[in-house]
This record gives sequence, structure tokens and C-alpha cells, in this order.
Amino acid sequence: MSIEPLGVRDDPQQPKPSDEQHSLDPSDWDEFRALAHSLLDGVLTHVRTIRDRPVWQAAPPVTREHFASSLPSKGRELGGVLDDVKTHVLPFATGNLHPRFMGWVNGAGTPVGILAEIVSAGLNMNCGGRNHIGVEIERQITRWMAEVFSYPETASGLFVTGSSMANFLATIIAKTHAIGCETRRLGVWNSEHRLVGYTSIEAHGCVAQAFELSGLGSNALRRVPVDASGRMDIAALRTSIREDMAAGALPFMIIASAGTVNTGAVDSLAEIAEIAARENLWFHVDGAIGAIAALSPRLRPLLSGIEASDSIALDFHKWGHVPYDAGFLLVRDRGIHKSAFVNSAAYLQSAERGLAAGDTWPCDLGLDLSRGCRALKTWMTLEALGASQLAEAAEFNCHLARYLAGKIERGTLFELKAPVTLSIVCFGMRGEDMGKVNRDLVIGVQVAGSAVPSWTTLNGEIVIRCAIINHRTTRADIDAVYDALSAEVVLRGITCRG
Ligand SMILES: *Cc1c(COP(=O)(O)O)cnc(C)c1O
Repeated sequence: MSIEPLGVRDDPQQPKPSDEQHSLDPSDWDEFRALAHSLLDGVLTHVRTIRDRPVWQAAPPVTREHFASSLPSKGRELGGVLDDVKTHVLPFATGNLHPRFMGWVNGAGTPVGILAEIVSAGLNMNCGGRNHIGVEIERQITRWMAEVFSYPETASGLFVTGSSMANFLATIIAKTHAIGCETRRLGVWNSEHRLVGYTSIEAHGCVAQAFELSGLGSNALRRVPVDASGRMDIAALRTSIREDMAAGALPFMIIASAGTVNTGAVDSLAEIAEIAARENLWFHVDGAIGAIAALSPRLRPLLSGIEASDSIALDFHKWGHVPYDAGFLLVRDRGIHKSAFVNSAAYLQSAERGLAAGDTWPCDLGLDLSRGCRALKTWMTLEALGASQLAEAAEFNCHLARYLAGKIERGTLFELKAPVTLSIVCFGMRGEDMGKVNRDLVIGVQVAGSAVPSWTTLNGEIVIRCAIINHRTTRADIDAVYDALSAEVVLRGITCRG
């Protein structure tokens, strides 16, 4: 066989390049080690002293310009690069480490997670498959989650970026299961069945997206109304299924929320499980926010019925505080899970021994082939802190949410806009038409750096939303956030019309 020449002609006059010159490792390991230790110290100090800084601040123009330069052709001193990280990166991050960050639903991370990321990067394991410890740790997390949710030991699990991906994969699995593996070849288009799925109007937007991307189309997703507590209206669900059946459609899946994104409401999982079982529908739970509550004996009853589901999406990077990203999909039936994705490429053959051993690899359970080791940081977090510390942190968040709700109800400025189930508090100025004011208050305290709540729309009205999921948050922080919002009201000369 001939060997193709490289584009550049070998010049016999030039000295042969040496092997060492081409390694990307440092030429001076001792110097590198010193820089690495000092960087780690800097990051640890940053986390330890997070309270002393604004919750969030926008990157100034000089920093933005720093990241607008052209691609460096030549490298520079590592020390200079690390100085840039300290000056231009650390101060301008998202803010979610900070105890007064309550925007959206963002995990706070832990110092153990920092160590885990060092090991992960150091080993640079590709966890798409094969016979190595990274894949084994993922199996361990799967067994742990199977235990937590009372799934059989044979359940399958897969780390993914987040619950958006987990909900998407679950939709694909449920669809393939409903109309058969042939659909992988033929496409839903060629099926004689018109599949329909069900979720509540309060479900996360990624559920509709999952339907779009799966080829079913979001019109095939029924948005069931909710009751006054934001939970799926069970009677309406039953009616909707009956109507679809009468119209000749094939109901195939219900996606319940264990913690809705707006208010943290938990659907009545036990009742939904019963309906799914009776009608032979796939029962998936979007537990992005709330599934971690299953670690707590006190919160677990809120999720009653989750053990009867067919699959669960959850996010270790939210209430589990594992560093981003660490989403997870748990599926009761490994065979059904695998049959939706398994791929028999020649270069991915497994063997009975050696590095290619093992009969189900993570790449047989999802789309990703090359993937990092999200399992290690999850394992290290659970090993070092134990399920009980995570559970107690979540319980305390729920306690703080009630504390904030109490302050709101006792005060004269604000009123609650939704019941508090887990640790999300939606509230706003008392009175009519205060949506714009609520939004301005949130932006005001964000820009001041004193707190980061976010806002959402409930029943057509913009409301302030505090998602209290940070393990660093204390009662004093709740007071401070409340006071910051109140001060903003005064600053803006807003009068309460309630
Ligand atoms: C965050 C969230 C998602 C999406 O999860 P990602 O991890 O951000 O992809 C889905 N559902 C709910 C209820 C969420 O809160």
C-alpha cells in the first residue's frame, strides 16, 4: 500500500524534528506544578470567600475585549494565562456559588466537586464505553439511583448533559417502545399510529422540544391544565386520553413533573402512575429539580408514586450540587432502553476480555459516543458528603423557602403568587398590574450585586421567583434578599397599591 505524502515536502537540509519537541506536556514540570498549586489555592479562596463579593457583576468592556482577540498562533507563558483567569474570569462568573443567588434553578457546586474535576481532567477518560473504571463508576451510580427510586437492580442509567437531554432520550425510548424498533429505520412518518403524549402546561419547555426533535411534533403533546397548586389536573388528563383514543390516536406516554420549573409543584405521581398502568402508557418523570428530594426521608413522601415510573430524568448539577454538567436518565427496563439506541458499528464491537469487554456500554444507551466522566464527580460528591448531607441541605432549603414565604405574608409590600411545595417562592408586589415593577425590582438587585432572584410569568403576570437551592444560603441571606428587594421598592419610589 502506498503512503500518501504530507502536503509539505520533507526538506533533507532541515534537521529531523525531535520527538520531545512535539509533546504538549510542560517542559518544566516543577514550574508547572507550582503554578497549578497556586491556581488551586486561588480557586479555593474564591469559593471560601464568595460572600465577600457581589452576587453577580457584568464583565466590563476591558474584560470583554480580552475575549475578542484573534486566535493565538503562538502560545505564551502559562503564568500570564492564569493571571488572566484570575483577573478576567473568576469575578465575572454566573454567580451561582453565592448564597444570595436564587435565580432560575442553579446548583452551587462543592469543593469536593473541584477535586473531582481535577481527577477527571487528569485521567481524561472517554466514557462512551469499554472496560475501564469510568464506566464502572457510572454503573455504580445507576445501581444507587435504582435503589433510591425502588427500581429493579437491572435498571439502566446514563449520564447526559442535563434533564433536557434526559427528557428527550426518554421520549425516544417511549416512542420506540410504543411502535417498535422498526421505527428506527422507517421513521414515525411510516407508522400507522398517531402517537400522542401528555404533560401539564407547567412542564418545562424542553418536553415540547423533545416532541419536536423526536419527529412526533409538539402538536402530539397534550398540555393538560393544572389545579390551583400547579399540579396536573388528573380529571383533565383522563378526559384528554379518552378523547384521543376515541379519535383513533395512540396515547403512548405521560410526562409528569416532580418539581415544576415555575413553582416547584409536584404532580400527583401515584395517580398518574395508575392511569399510565391502566392505559399501558410509558410513565416518565421529569425530576430535574425535585428527584433529589428522594434522598431525604422527610421529603420523599412528596414524590410518592415515582417508584412506579418507567423512567426518571434528574439533575445532579441542580439540587445535588455536582459541578456542571451532570444530568441523568434512569430507565426501569434496560432492554427497552437499549433497543432504542444500540448501534452495531464495526469499530464499536465488544469482546469477552480486554479493553473492549462489557456487553452494554453507555454509547448503547444514548446518542453520545465520546463523553467525559460525569460519574466520578457524582460518586465523589456522594461518597464524601453522603446522601444524608445532601438531603439535609435540601430540607433546609425547603425550610428557608417557608421562612421567606412567612416574611412575605407578614409584610405589607409583597404577596405570595403560588403555593410553596419544595423551595421555590413566587411572589410580587401587592396590587394589580405590578408585573413590570416586579421585573424591574429583580433587575435592580441583580445589577446592584446584592441578590439574584429571577422572574417568571404566572397566570399572565410577571412575578419574582426565588429558587432557594444553594447549600450556603442562611436565614440571614433570606433577610438580606428580602431587604434588598424592599430597598429597591423605596429607591424607585414605588407605592404599594394593595
Ligand atoms: C432545569 C430543568 C430542566 C432542564 O434540565 P437541564 O439540566 O437544564 O437540561 C427540565 N425540567 C425541569 C423541571 C427543570 O427545572
